[in-house]
Amino acid sequence: MNNREKFYDHVAQTSDAPMGLEVDYAEGPYIYTTDGRQYVDFISGIAVSSLGHRHPKVVEAVKKQADQHLHVMVYGEFIQEPQSAYADLLTSQLPSSLDRVYFVNSGTEANEGALKLAKKHTGRHKFVAFNHGYHGDTHGSLSVTGRDVYQDPYKPLLPNVHFLDFNSFEALDTIDEQTAAVIMEPIQGEGGIIPAQKKWLKNVRQRCNEAGALLIFDEIQTGFYRTGSLFAFEQYDVVPDILCLAKAMGGGMPMGAFVSSSKIFESFMYNPPLNHVTTFGGHPVSCAAAHATLSELLSDDYGYKADQIESIARKELTADGISEVRGVGAMLGMELKNTELTRQVVEDCMDQGIILGWTLHSDTLVRLAPPLIIDLELLQDIFKKINGTIKKYCQQ
Ligand code: PMP
Repeated sequence: MNNREKFYDHVAQTSDAPMGLEVDYAEGPYIYTTDGRQYVDFISGIAVSSLGHRHPKVVEAVKKQADQHLHVMVYGEFIQEPQSAYADLLTSQLPSSLDRVYFVNSGTEANEGALKLAKKHTGRHKFVAFNHGYHGDTHGSLSVTGRDVYQDPYKPLLPNVHFLDFNSFEALDTIDEQTAAVIMEPIQGEGGIIPAQKKWLKNVRQRCNEAGALLIFDEIQTGFYRTGSLFAFEQYDVVPDILCLAKAMGGGMPMGAFVSSSKIFESFMYNPPLNHVTTFGGHPVSCAAAHATLSELLSDDYGYKADQIESIARKELTADGISEVRGVGAMLGMELKNTELTRQVVEDCMDQGIILGWTLHSDTLVRLAPPLIIDLELLQDIFKKINGTIKKYCQQ
């Protein structure tokens, strides 16, 4: 059996149509396949490889830590330098109310932890979430993911979750004194790259303050300069009570975290102690990779790079089949006129060596999330090719 056969026969599948590229190696903005082809990764492994693939500083940190130690103890017991150093660096970049980091291994785990922390801290169990929001596929995160088609097969889920329309002012009255937390993405990713309106987000914050509910920002996709600032909340001038992170955080290693205040995190320490633990959360190799990633991101103007990606996209993507280019920085979506055109463009681009993709809740939106390290000439060339491909199908 070759690798392809083993994959199709023995690796659990998530759909009947996987993209099926057989990866040989990856470097910078490129993925190379075993048949010798070069692909430009224009979705960064779904908003993960912001520094490109195998960034030398990340690889160096991984190797160095692998020589030092791997797993030594479950999370929270031993003092491990990669964890402490990274928590210190990350919190130095955050408002003083976000001074403590709980490390996990993925986005959904970050959200699970945040929901439990909000329940424990407030003593309440009502949650408010948003239609078309996406927070992950474990039971808690799925319970606050705003799409029936993904929830229905797994019901009953968490009770007392109320879904509101994103950017709707009227809906905010649902946030009341029974609400433990509001969970949301400042820019909905899988929902189709939909930014929150600034004034509305401030109202959400205000309503949470009035009701004594916590505000959880899921910045799993928007974090680490994807939208032009280190975190999207900076552009909104709204600070969440709990910040959830993953994806680009580990520079290609599995890594996630939820960040909050020391006061809020106290509720995890008592009644009973050890009420939220994890074996692998804060793995030393992942923490070393995350530290190298953030250090690199802070050493250059990656926010400006994300902004440049947006302006080039908006300049080049002008074909008739495009109804809208939306998003912020390097978290962009291109809405095409119909599903068939979207499928044709994504498939044709793949044949040309450009990896594009859909978002989970929309089949007319093409996701554009290039790595922030991408060379501007290459970027321009790819946008021109995408635009030309759309034109080609619109003329037929
Ligand atoms: N929240 C958001 C906003 C996401 O985009 C994702 C992943 N697409 C998740 C949570 C879940 O992350 P993971 O797949 O690492 O569990």
